[in-house]
Amino acid sequence: MTKDSHSIDVVIIGGGIAGLTVAHELIRSRAGITVTLLEAGAAPGGKIQSANILGNHPIDVGPDALLTASGAVRKLCEELGLADALAYPTNGTTGIYHRGSICAVPPGLISGVPVSPVSLARSPMLSLHGMLRASGDLVLPRKEFTAASTVADMVISRVGAEVLTNFVEPLIGGMYAGDTRYLSAKYATPPLFQALQQHRSLLMGLRRRPRTTSRGGLGTFAPGGLTTLVDALTSAISPVADLRTATPARSLHRSPAGWVVNSDDDSWSSRHVVVALPAPQASQLLFPTFVHQAELLRSVEYASVITVTLALPPQPHRRSAIPGCVVPRSDEHLITALTCISDRWEHHRLPDAYLVRCSLGRHGDERAWLMTDEEIIQRVRTDVTSILRIDASTGDAVLKRWENALPQYGPQHGAMLESLGEIEADNVSLVGAAYRGVGIASCIEHGKATAERILGRL
Ligand SMILES: Cc1cc2nc3c(=O)[nH]c(=O)nc-3n(C[C@H](O)[C@H](O)[C@H](O)COP(=O)(O)OP(=O)(O)OC[C@H]3O[C@@H](n4cnc5c(N)ncnc54)[C@H](O)[C@@H]3O)c2cc1C
Repeated sequence: MTKDSHSIDVVIIGGGIAGLTVAHELIRSRAGITVTLLEAGAAPGGKIQSANILGNHPIDVGPDALLTASGAVRKLCEELGLADALAYPTNGTTGIYHRGSICAVPPGLISGVPVSPVSLARSPMLSLHGMLRASGDLVLPRKEFTAASTVADMVISRVGAEVLTNFVEPLIGGMYAGDTRYLSAKYATPPLFQALQQHRSLLMGLRRRPRTTSRGGLGTFAPGGLTTLVDALTSAISPVADLRTATPARSLHRSPAGWVVNSDDDSWSSRHVVVALPAPQASQLLFPTFVHQAELLRSVEYASVITVTLALPPQPHRRSAIPGCVVPRSDEHLITALTCISDRWEHHRLPDAYLVRCSLGRHGDERAWLMTDEEIIQRVRTDVTSILRIDASTGDAVLKRWENALPQYGPQHGAMLESLGEIEADNVSLVGAAYRGVGIASCIEHGKATAERILGRL
């Protein structure tokens, strides 16, 4: 069946934060531009989703905070009139669960590595031997690291296994739900990798890093959470762009005008296409036009994760000094992180409940994923009771599974980025968490940069 294509300037495939940012930047910057955004789901937002706990209290069930130090994030919030809605933690201290206690992350860590091992002297998480080994970095000879080097290789060879196990693995592994023995040093820990490109010693390189002027840590929007950002983007885009939900893109073909994108019952012709999808879905769309790139995308590994939020009975006498912690892979608990969100965020402080959010699941560890929802919630209650030393056996629970949700920047990541760069010359751009940073801030930065590049070519 032949279909008449709508002829437009840019088709964006995928309505997560990356695709929405591209659409917003295009229509904000160029009057009269025609943009269509195709989203497979019933609503835009992708991983950014909320649910209600206790009947009507909204909580984020995917990401729950974004990095507000990013200039692109602050600019987007200003453009959308959201700057004043940004909420910051009442207590942003983060901890690492270590031998039965939650220990505060020592100050001055960069990607989990201390700028000075002496700064760790008071931390119970590093033994004297571990501290001496970390200091060895100052005298050890230079070693070359490439994009194929793993985070574990690089960190162990410079500052030792204890810094890796006790700091880098839980903090970096927590961000990617990943395994530092698989993650690429260059792409998962860029500050560490870059320091070693210029300096023999990792500690010296980190200390001599240019100071950034950016301010702000993690933030969200009160009271609605991160879906506030999605709603604002959608409202800004919809009057101008053609935003189609429940419309998965099925194929991408070359045409005399550039490209034709087909859904089940419609098609769009345009010179520029932005593929804002996770790697497996992007791979399906690029095949067979870009066979090599499709294969590289198909080989990207993902971690499946689960979030569980518990509404426990009020804890009037509890006020955590450290309201969140990551749990090392080596620990016996199944949860990988927990946050007492009632202590961290003002808008989650409730008179009749104490909210605790937990994460489970890691790359290469399917134990939680294979359990039933009931088993997971029961296990979370046991783990929270053990870690926080409070009774977590009763109260409402909200569970959300995220299958293949977090991309793992493995040893082939650099080769993949290079290869994807080649098809940009054909006006096909790939954007989103699979490429230049998994966090929302990175997706926004990548989305804005992609839109600017397209605008330069229109
Ligand atoms: C549990 C969890 C917690 C996280 N916590 C944080 C956090 O606290 N802070 C942070 O910064 N980051 C966090 N992240 C990471 C961050 O949320 C994601 O990396 C980011 O939101 C991904 O955005 P995206 O636009 O690249 O992709 P997605 O959000 O995956 O969007 C892709 C969109 O494409 C659509 N789609 C798929 N196939 C098609 C098709 N064929 N046609 C059209 N549309 C299609 C999907 O429906 C989806 O809406 C977390 C992630 C998870 C899973």
